[in-house]
Amino acid sequence: MSAVRTTCPYCGVGCGLRASPAAGGGFEIRGDSEHPANLGRVCSKGAALGETLGLDGRLLHPEIRGARASWDEALDAVATGFARTIAAHGPDSVAFYVSGQLLTEDYYVANKLMKGFIGSANIDTNSRLCMASAVAGYKRAFGADAVPNDYTDLEQAELIVLVGSNLAWCHPVLFQRISAAKAANPKLKLVLIDPRRTQSADIADLHLQLRLGSDVVLFNGLLNYLRREDALDLEFLDAHTEGFGAALRCAKESAASIPAVAAACGLAEDDVLELYRLFARTPKTVTAFSQGVNQSTSGTDKVNAIVNVHLATGRIGKPGMGPFSLTGQPNAMGGREVGGLANQLAAHMDFAEANVERVARFWGSPRVAARPGLKAVDLFDAVERGAVKAVWIISTNPVVSMPDAERVRRALQRCELVVVSDCVRDTDTTRCAHVLLPAAAWGEKAGTVTNSERRISRQRSFMPPPGEAQPDWWIVAQVAKRMGFGTAFDYDGPAAIFREHARLSAFENGGERALDIGAVASLSDAEYETLQPFQWPRPAGVAAPPRLFADGRFFTASRKAQLVPTTPRAPAHKPDADYPLVLNTGRVRDQWHTMTRTGRSARLSGHHAEPFVQLHPLDATRFGLALGDLVEVATATARIVVRLEITDVVTPGQVFVPMHWGSVFASNARVCTLIPAAVDAISGQPELKAAPVRVGRYEPKWYGFALSRAPLELPATSYKAVSRGAGYWRYELAGDELPGSWPEWADAVLGPRTARVELSDVAGGRYRGANVDGERLQACVFVATAKSLPSRTWLATLFGSPKLSDADRLAILAGRAPKGALEAGPVVCSCFAVGRSTLLRAIRGDKLVSVEQIGKALRAGTNCGSCIPELKGLLAESAPSTAAQN
Ligand code: SF4
Repeated sequence: MSAVRTTCPYCGVGCGLRASPAAGGGFEIRGDSEHPANLGRVCSKGAALGETLGLDGRLLHPEIRGARASWDEALDAVATGFARTIAAHGPDSVAFYVSGQLLTEDYYVANKLMKGFIGSANIDTNSRLCMASAVAGYKRAFGADAVPNDYTDLEQAELIVLVGSNLAWCHPVLFQRISAAKAANPKLKLVLIDPRRTQSADIADLHLQLRLGSDVVLFNGLLNYLRREDALDLEFLDAHTEGFGAALRCAKESAASIPAVAAACGLAEDDVLELYRLFARTPKTVTAFSQGVNQSTSGTDKVNAIVNVHLATGRIGKPGMGPFSLTGQPNAMGGREVGGLANQLAAHMDFAEANVERVARFWGSPRVAARPGLKAVDLFDAVERGAVKAVWIISTNPVVSMPDAERVRRALQRCELVVVSDCVRDTDTTRCAHVLLPAAAWGEKAGTVTNSERRISRQRSFMPPPGEAQPDWWIVAQVAKRMGFGTAFDYDGPAAIFREHARLSAFENGGERALDIGAVASLSDAEYETLQPFQWPRPAGVAAPPRLFADGRFFTASRKAQLVPTTPRAPAHKPDADYPLVLNTGRVRDQWHTMTRTGRSARLSGHHAEPFVQLHPLDATRFGLALGDLVEVATATARIVVRLEITDVVTPGQVFVPMHWGSVFASNARVCTLIPAAVDAISGQPELKAAPVRVGRYEPKWYGFALSRAPLELPATSYKAVSRGAGYWRYELAGDELPGSWPEWADAVLGPRTARVELSDVAGGRYRGANVDGERLQACVFVATAKSLPSRTWLATLFGSPKLSDADRLAILAGRAPKGALEAGPVVCSCFAVGRSTLLRAIRGDKLVSVEQIGKALRAGTNCGSCIPELKGLLAESAPSTAAQN
């Protein structure tokens, strides 16, 4: 089998990949050098995809109320349940909640069933959580949800303003492309605007660590400055825009001067001025933004404040410039295109009467939804109230990722019918399901995705679905047939669905709608199979425009772009004496969403093995916390317990917790339980980055950890975090209750004590035990009443050892590595499993001063490059001691 060209299932960069059979079984995944998004590059997550293809944890058969069922039984249960609910309570009593993980073809069929044939628009997507504000902002400004840029703009720009985006970790291949462009072009400057000093600051010429939520003031101030400095493009404003006067008035009122902006944003005046000067004098400017902008109760205004300064300077529709929304998910854009958001009908059409009538004719359905449906937060509110009585959740995990996540769980537990399609058996959401439907996973399913630059690429299958798993489009179409809509869902494969989607995009379009891919509406199955990545629009019969908006014509009624007045607003919830800190959430480098796939990879799990909270040193002192403490982060209604990192990447008053950990990987770390469900009034996007919280030390009676070749069934403990290592599972533990006997507790953890070495120090409050089967370590557990415990990384190396030496056995009991054994520390370079301690030893001992030297010595940073910002951080951290040694 030759390599199959496909696309990465993780972030919105949409990297092309080649999957080929690996020598030892499984598949090797490499970057596709011919794909324009990545030109052969991959990040740590993409590089580890081959490790995530196993069957452990997969949902392989349909289930009804926990019992295995046939497909016929399960599909009948779903179709009957939905039909009965609709007959009794109307079409708005049911809902779908879908995902940016779906392929466009899956999305299209789900949207067609709900909006076209059930007759409700109650279908929304988890993309609501990541980029709904960008959609709303673009629509207000351009009359269409049309991202104006492509990735080459980032390389042709001379200034990149990166707002609310940790590109280095969340879109790593784009970060690599920008890093390379900066190295090749010293004139290219990058300004980072982010309340955290993320790894993306590594290549920034200027970092504005602004106050959370103050972006609108900053960009209003910029608009005002551009007017004062006579840096506007008056010709463009006059010919191609409307609304400048009102936008400027608003900007003047809210951001009258640089001192006023600096004070409102918590920035130095010189830094604000530096940004404004750079922007004013650099025509080739791209402002790239992501969740830090979108996930806010004023997210849409933030987007428009950014778009305003590009329109005011005519910096759109030309190479190297434009306001560029970077989408989080691999197919958030595809979902937008087919109507996966509750406020869009289909093919980028909204619910205007003419659109509803047009789509009804195209689909041949008399009952197309005529008004928008419930957006994500409202949808789950309706489930909780009982207004929505049947919900089908496809390929997403809202019990972890939605704000007020515990309320979402409660809502699902009360719901009469919860259907969940997923490829994973156990998630916080599948635990709430009445009917479970096994879906095909990446590598098994086929279709298309659209990345952040509007590029449509094929995802291709290279292995059959296991068990009874089926593609999502098939599952939805089967339910549609059973509900009596058979002829409209009689597809023989994804190519037929893609053709229909493309035909709808072109249907009665005539250049009125941005999305038009009519040129690919008649592809044969064979042509679909070999379809090359392309950007939309691609209308039939006419040449595709070389660049969106190059002609200065937009998709508003007047064909002019709209500047929108934007009034700054503080986040919905403010800190106070009881909850004095502001919680910011985000992502880590090596995990994706709720870890259902990346959590299976040992090398990805080594980077952060536990959920954590980052706190500034001043706040750590203020709250009496020390590095490595278990910390309770709490609101009035919820609390999580996570490990403390003390770092000045966050400012005083701010805490950061990643969003990935659900109940499957940690006992109590669902950070979204702490987030109130406040949303942007226009986009419906929740404010996921500004929740008031308090922190305090969590003081259990004991701390511990276990390492084991096989998964362990652990007795209930108050704190547990589980992760994969190379050949072992790792459990971090703590408890509120001291067991009566540690050896007996260890029996429950480790199993029979036939080959146990152990040390039980009752007076010292310590227990160490290890099961050794023959000559190999099978499992070990360490507990203590104090926080300090032996190093996990040295013990973990013993799972790779074919034979434990006597020194190893003694060292296990002593809780220390034998003399001469070297600690690796937490993984920094995932590709070559190089740990922090190894790196620091090499940097200090061998006096390494550059990433290149580290690469030569240890290979770290020489494959995907995702760890390079952290390598630079370690070099900086070591600089004084290196100097001292010199
Ligand atoms: S940057 Fe990484 S996660 Fe994103 S698409 Fe590329 S390989 Fe996948």
